[in-house]
Amino acid sequence: EDVPQLCGNPAEVLAEHYAINDGVVRTRFPPEPNGYLHIGHAKSMNMNFKLAFEKLGIEDGSRRECVFRYDDTNPEKENREFVESLRKDVAWMGWSPIQVTHTSDYFEALYAMALELIRAGKAYVCEQSPAEIEACRGVAKARAALRRLRESNSRTIPEDVVVAAREDTPGAHESPYRDRPVSENLASFEKMRRGQVAEGAMTLRLKMDNDATNFNMFDQVAYRIKFSPHPNTGDAWCVYPTYDYTHCVVDSLEHVDYSICTLEFETRRESYYWVLDALDIYRPKVFEMSRLNITYTVLSKRKLAKLVDTKVVRGWDDPRMPTISGLRRRGYSPAALNSFCDDIGVTRNENLIDYVRLQHFARLDLEPRAPRRMAVREPFRIDLDGPDEVFRRDYHAQGYTLRLSRTIYIDRKDYRDVDSPDFFGLAPQKIVRLRHAVNIRYESDGKGVVVDDSIDPKGKLHWVSEEDAVECELRDYDRLFVVPKIDESKWEKQINPNSEVVYDTALVHHSVKDWAPLTSVQFERLGFYCVDYDGKVFNRTVELRSETAA
Ligand code: ATP
Ligand code: MG
Ligand code: MG
Repeated sequence: EDVPQLCGNPAEVLAEHYAINDGVVRTRFPPEPNGYLHIGHAKSMNMNFKLAFEKLGIEDGSRRECVFRYDDTNPEKENREFVESLRKDVAWMGWSPIQVTHTSDYFEALYAMALELIRAGKAYVCEQSPAEIEACRGVAKARAALRRLRESNSRTIPEDVVVAAREDTPGAHESPYRDRPVSENLASFEKMRRGQVAEGAMTLRLKMDNDATNFNMFDQVAYRIKFSPHPNTGDAWCVYPTYDYTHCVVDSLEHVDYSICTLEFETRRESYYWVLDALDIYRPKVFEMSRLNITYTVLSKRKLAKLVDTKVVRGWDDPRMPTISGLRRRGYSPAALNSFCDDIGVTRNENLIDYVRLQHFARLDLEPRAPRRMAVREPFRIDLDGPDEVFRRDYHAQGYTLRLSRTIYIDRKDYRDVDSPDFFGLAPQKIVRLRHAVNIRYESDGKGVVVDDSIDPKGKLHWVSEEDAVECELRDYDRLFVVPKIDESKWEKQINPNSEVVYDTALVHHSVKDWAPLTSVQFERLGFYCVDYDGKVFNRTVELRSETAA
């Protein structure tokens, strides 16, 4: 009675998809809504929405289709916030999916296909606990290792492998429920589906090949019981299909031509096609590329979530995060991110990209378009003496007007009580140029004097006059981690405790006061900055010059 409406004949579903797919090449971008998208996803999007077609020589835009699919099969880790952020970030990056789908849109079709697999003797309900399944998996793994050693005529066969293989117990490597009759499997699966079985007590498993050398052929779990509401299907289901069962089937149902994934999935090709062949449905072509890694940061949603949850950062969109939303708030444009992705390209080499390369694309993008202004991070006050006329004049910088008043501020770092030959800042009795304006000589005790303009001093400092100054907060960022390649086992100890430096008494030229969030600006000598969502805060995108080039 309360069994869901099944999709009926999967072949009809397929026929529909084939009909709309005529002459078109289709890819898909399938993120799971269990976190925010990051720069690794930017690489995947760049591939799926663009590079793949270029590689295939498909220039005609109307023949290019990419489906944006929410891979939503773990309801307890997924939520609406993530769902919304994914949609926003895909659009912001400039990609237009032909369709937005969810793996959960296919829950009924997937369920019908599972019944088909049971009827064909290719799936069974298993009552092993997760620990028991793990134990069997261990035995199967040991047996595979032993077989490989024997096949290669190895002289030394480790004793622990022999013990773990348990050859005296032939069935120890697989579920004792494997050969139940179809009718029993159907009845149990029905019970699972109706919520009559406790979480963890039963799973539906695929009857694959426990003797295979490829370990991903070990009878995979296709369905597990979870009494969790789902962001898309609500309370409709309490059995949820797994990634391994759904990914291939949904790729097939959506008639994806190229299913592009990262290299760690290469060993899962065999099981991907096992499921499709068992159901006798269309086989997409699978293509693997290397996963993007960047120095001094992590690109795993689990780790990024931990940084958010433990308040190491201010949120998923903290400007230090390698997330799309963090990079956006940091001042990166979609063009800068996509140029970076074009530049790193797509290969099968394991790669760790220097983050300096990403910064390079921020500078290339910002240099020609970010207007210039002046700001001081830590105001150092100087009261000036000089002819009245110099204080009445307007000074023109690139694109804006400066006023010199009798009180000005330079940056504290540009002042020293004791001068030295390698220091171009201000010191007692020394002359510097205030950029775009006049020369001054420092006297002492915060007093200075406007002097002869014809001298060309080495030091040309940024400054803000009292009259032009507006208070604000500048936030400068450093690497999120202290080592280039983060260690899996102790990554939380490698977090940089000083990745954010806040200057909360900074001063900026008043003209930037009402700029919209995310507007970029070059603060002379300090770096490229970007207006935060709170207009009083400016986040530093990047220094003006590369640290390594210095
Ligand atoms: P995580 O381990 O962070 O959860 P994931 O691969 O499970 O990563 P998904 O959201 O499921 O994340 O991935 C969506 C798509 O983006 C997949 O096709 C995946 O291969 C790709 N992708 C994810 N991370 C990277 C990365 N670092 N480099 C390239 N592609 C990636
Ligand atoms: Mg995934
Ligand atoms: Mg994942």
